[in-house]
Amino acid sequence: MTCLHDRHIDPVILAGLNGSNWGLDDYVARGGYSVLKKILAEQTPPDDIIADIKLSALRGRGGAGFPTGLKWSFMPRMYPGQKYLVCNSDEGEPGTFKDRDILRYNPHALIEGMAIAAYTMGISRGYNYIHGEIFEVYDIFEQALAQARAANLLGDNIQNSGFNFDLFAHHGYGAYICGEETALLESLEGKKGQPRFKPPFPASFGLYGKPTTINNTETFAAVPFLLKMGGQAYLDIGKPNNGGSKIFSISGDVNLPGNYEVPMGTPFAKVLELAGGMRGGAIKAVIPGGSSAPVLRGEVMMDTNMDYDSISKAGSMLGSGAIIVMNDTRCMVKSLLRLSYFYYEESCGQCTPCREGTGWLWRVVNRIEHGKGRPEDLDLLDSVAGNIMGRTICALGDAAALPVRSFVKNFRDEFAHHIEHKSCLVPTYR
Ligand code: SF4
Repeated sequence: MTCLHDRHIDPVILAGLNGSNWGLDDYVARGGYSVLKKILAEQTPPDDIIADIKLSALRGRGGAGFPTGLKWSFMPRMYPGQKYLVCNSDEGEPGTFKDRDILRYNPHALIEGMAIAAYTMGISRGYNYIHGEIFEVYDIFEQALAQARAANLLGDNIQNSGFNFDLFAHHGYGAYICGEETALLESLEGKKGQPRFKPPFPASFGLYGKPTTINNTETFAAVPFLLKMGGQAYLDIGKPNNGGSKIFSISGDVNLPGNYEVPMGTPFAKVLELAGGMRGGAIKAVIPGGSSAPVLRGEVMMDTNMDYDSISKAGSMLGSGAIIVMNDTRCMVKSLLRLSYFYYEESCGQCTPCREGTGWLWRVVNRIEHGKGRPEDLDLLDSVAGNIMGRTICALGDAAALPVRSFVKNFRDEFAHHIEHKSCLVPTYR
């Protein structure tokens, strides 16, 4: 996978990194840990830090886009017992591969961001839950933790400030559902990774039943840079309600797939240009925010900007920023078949609409793809998807249903052709 940092516009997280300069000395030479040291030396009031983060409009980079400053303000300050900070590095959604690059190229940005978060919320213990299918970057992160501990940037009495914060890495086992925050907590506790009912939310009942704040890797890694430049300057990189820069993982039919860090609100057409433009055909469809986001037609995306509000207005979700590009040789039935099988396979099976519905969706798409579709199948897909949405414990149910509805709605002619003619509308499909 290529990481072309020199192509970025005003990058802040992956700037100038090449895989050989992730260590502590290089990070410090780039100005790393200066924000944490300043905060600890000056004993910056936590309310000031939260105010700056709120001003910056930094929204959670894991998919939900929840305002980070607001989330941090939920943590009860005066809670007498143990509180926890958790980083969600369990990226497993098809199309998403940015967090592993942060761990690989800039792990100390994440550690510094988590230490600042811990200071701000009065937390003394944190965990980074790393996806179980990622091995090399897990080792890099462990080495970075050891470097930070040796330099008294983690542990007891950090930089003689009286602030204690221990941070540990935890390797998952590769289940997609463990990226859901409460399933992640269950897994971290050593149990089967299955989502919990909410409420209660993790801010009041999180890890081991204690108040817990969970953020995504990219969110934490953005914090040192945000605070160094100030909330207003960070906001100004992007646009109102969508502050800062964002790493977009681009895959599919582009010439230079990889991670690109650009200002929020950058036109999709510009991001596509950075990724070397289309490969193998004209643009047909784009999934703009990871496989659970609704697919959009290519011409719609070419007029859309890459930020939460613009993508939402276009009819999809920015999600984690994973852009999957498809050219006009792709069969949308076959593409949906792959996605449907993924969600069927990854359902944890706790709730009936998701456990049964994801399998039902996959079986109907499968028979359409293989020339056994029935005229009523498109309405059936819509009906089954509608009966999953909003009726499950976690968002995986909706994540399985949304692609089905959007694929059928936006490319109905291809599905109808498969059913009527028992063949693909895209003759050059490979
Ligand atoms: Fe499990 Fe699916 Fe229910 Fe989520 S929606 S809890 S993945 S069965």
